[in-house]
Amino acid sequence: MIADEKKIQNGEKDQESFRDSISIIDKSGKRVWVYPKKPKGKYHNWRIVVSVILLAVLFGVPFIKIDGHPFFLLNIVERKFIIFGLAFWPQDFYIFALVFLSLVIFIFLFTTVFGRIWCGWACPQTIFMEMVFRKIEYWIEGDGAEQYKLNRAEMSPDKILKKTSKHVIFFSISFVIGNTFLAYIIGIDELFKIITEPVQEHIVGFSFMIGFSGLFYFIFASFREQACIYVCPYGRLQSVMLDKNSIVVAYDFKRGEPRGKLKHGAENQSGDCIDCGLCVQVCPTGIDIRNGTQLECVNCTACMDACDGIMDKIGRSKKLIRYASFDLITKGITFTVTPRIVGYSAVLLLLMAVTTAFMLTRKDIETTILRAKGSMYQVLEDGKIRNMYTAKIVNKTFDAMTVHFELEDVPGTITVAGVDQLLIRPDELVESTFLVDIPQEAIKQNHIKINIGVYRGNTLISSEETSFIAPAKGARK
Ligand code: SF4
Ligand code: SF4
Repeated sequence: MIADEKKIQNGEKDQESFRDSISIIDKSGKRVWVYPKKPKGKYHNWRIVVSVILLAVLFGVPFIKIDGHPFFLLNIVERKFIIFGLAFWPQDFYIFALVFLSLVIFIFLFTTVFGRIWCGWACPQTIFMEMVFRKIEYWIEGDGAEQYKLNRAEMSPDKILKKTSKHVIFFSISFVIGNTFLAYIIGIDELFKIITEPVQEHIVGFSFMIGFSGLFYFIFASFREQACIYVCPYGRLQSVMLDKNSIVVAYDFKRGEPRGKLKHGAENQSGDCIDCGLCVQVCPTGIDIRNGTQLECVNCTACMDACDGIMDKIGRSKKLIRYASFDLITKGITFTVTPRIVGYSAVLLLLMAVTTAFMLTRKDIETTILRAKGSMYQVLEDGKIRNMYTAKIVNKTFDAMTVHFELEDVPGTITVAGVDQLLIRPDELVESTFLVDIPQEAIKQNHIKINIGVYRGNTLISSEETSFIAPAKGARK
């Protein structure tokens, strides 16, 4: 295992091993710990800028409120979701399903065109690992080679100090991440209660807080790149999503091969790759990108920066490793709209249109009114005909509301059992039974359609069509 770790550090990966094994496992099946060299360069600097913005958004969003309600909340426990200030309840599940489906198709389309750009630039795992935890590690323990030496050194006060301070900082950051994660689920107000009130009043919340912190600490202090290689389904789906037209971090083998060490004073007879191994040394997943696109590559751009630096030093043109498709490198084709891209785009557009239509027609209150199952009409003493109905009303807003029913287009009365108005709390489903009495002279047939309006004060919020039955005209008194 040590030999493999050293090989990655020296940029001397076995040239054929990538075909039948992954980079972070040695021949005996043990994990190979990766000590990547500190990355630097243009792409890395841009990734720092993007990471700072995304981290500010991630940590800031739970604090944003609109009219006292969270801007974003994914409360799976209470099945309450707020997205961009809009509340979604379990009744809106079909919209969620459509959004989820659109997202999956979008990911397929985006990956087919741009490869794993998401992994390198926007994935929280990569951002936290490479831009937060790894940077702290470099700061405390030094560059990759120094970390390797420190891990093999005898225990000393210096080693204890470095290791302890690193892990204390790692756990503290994991605690902040864990709390933020929890804030997205239960809301920032609930989180503050867990933090400020006695623990015994929030045993469950407190347990989750510690659990999430421990989980993130484990991921970033120990599990690391294995999350991308073994766990992340997106990474594992690359082989079906990428094609020769996809833009990925790629080594220009036409220009680079045959690789060969730089010979000073002699005319360079080989390709542009001087086999310095720097692209392997900086790779956080320990692969050699010169072997082609691999499952482990998270498109972090570290090898692009490293190689550009080398090319700059030896006076050759940059971009030997760059964002490029296989077709671009081999045939010079910049981009082709393939049938796959057209297909994904068409399905995505259709799904987005349907989702938008559902979103626009979505009501704050959802009502279903049906004639009570198995009930018949009743002829009253004053000659009116009575039908019985059941209503189900769901309040999808943040506020409690009172509603009442009115007949829309026929004379008559509605009597709700026991009350004049129905009180419906937020996210509450209220079931009610009511009676509709209509004078005989207003009923021309024995089966008519009537509209029942649901009013909040004087405002009509919903109008439901239902059926009303009466005795046949000849059979009436
Ligand atoms: S950094 Fe560039 S020159 Fe050096 S080994 Fe990698 S591809 Fe070749
Ligand atoms: S091969 Fe290059 S882009 Fe891919 S993970 Fe390694 S360093 Fe990052």
